[in-house]
Amino acid sequence: IKKIGVLTSGGDAPGMNAAIRAVIRAALAKGIEVYGIHDGYLGLHRDRIEKLDRRSVSDIINRGGTMLGSARFPAFKEESVRREAIANLNKHGIEALVVIGGDGSYMGAKKLTEMGYPCIGLPGTIDNDIAGTDFTIGFDTALNVVMEAIDRLRDTSTSHKRISVVEVMGRHCGDLAMAAAVAGGAEFVIVPEKGFKKEELLAQIDEGIASGKRHAIITICEHVTDVNALANLIELHTGLETRATILGHIQRGGSPTARDRILASRMGAYAVDLLIDGQGGRCVGLLKNELIHHDIIDCIENMKRPFNEELFNLTKTLF
Ligand code: ATP
Repeated sequence: IKKIGVLTSGGDAPGMNAAIRAVIRAALAKGIEVYGIHDGYLGLHRDRIEKLDRRSVSDIINRGGTMLGSARFPAFKEESVRREAIANLNKHGIEALVVIGGDGSYMGAKKLTEMGYPCIGLPGTIDNDIAGTDFTIGFDTALNVVMEAIDRLRDTSTSHKRISVVEVMGRHCGDLAMAAAVAGGAEFVIVPEKGFKKEELLAQIDEGIASGKRHAIITICEHVTDVNALANLIELHTGLETRATILGHIQRGGSPTARDRILASRMGAYAVDLLIDGQGGRCVGLLKNELIHHDIIDCIENMKRPFNEELFNLTKTLF
């Protein structure tokens, strides 16, 4: 293998740049040329492809976002569109691709592989919602952002005896909400995997207030319920001022943590090894701190992320 490409797709995540850098430098070290594809599958289709060298990725390991840009490009689901994208790759002599993104991006990578174009997927998303890996690239950074936000809310909540409802990202995965609840010392966590009963939550809040707590912090995963309505309900019930804070896209930004940079660097270099080994249609994961790879379809369709009961129960024990 002489030439490979790399792209980032779907939502951006801190650490994607470290992964791009690792792919480029690991490939160059093995005598392989690397091409960067701008704006995900959209750029692949529009031929936004440029050759990269060691220097192209200088000074990016510490930056959030993705230097290659990302895009949503639903048209990539059509075979004719993918065929045109492959024609672009062929034109540049690019033989294989590393795709950094979430589930949707993995589907695109799998379909390209089925059309004879080997791809390796790296899990890049703050949501930690990809099967086959303990951690995705970007999760740790987002977790630290959420933790810091909770710390700040705690200061003001304690001073004013206020209740805070903090909505965090994660799509349909409660990992970020749970990890942030433990790291931030939140009293309650609401995750989609478990659902919640309003009466139970209110009873728990009552119990906390009765035991002399000066604040209550609730972390909740997005898409579970309307957090402003939930805050109103809590305020009506307790008579204490209750505010909802939706952290939103600030969770996606910022300089990646050491943990994310190292994870991304390891995964990027590993993807290159897999391509050299002639593998395609695989996605990379981290299991008990060891790098592993799975069939992409298996990962999307058959494997389930195990729910972290221990972490969930811990939020209750440490209440
Ligand atoms: P995130 O988890 O951050 O949202 P994602 O990779 O899941 O990331 P999507 O928007 O679902 O984000 O997918 C990214 C891109 O992958 C899509 O815009 C599209 O170009 C491509 N893609 C998604 N699904 C498919 C599919 N079934 N076949 C081919 N390409 C797809």
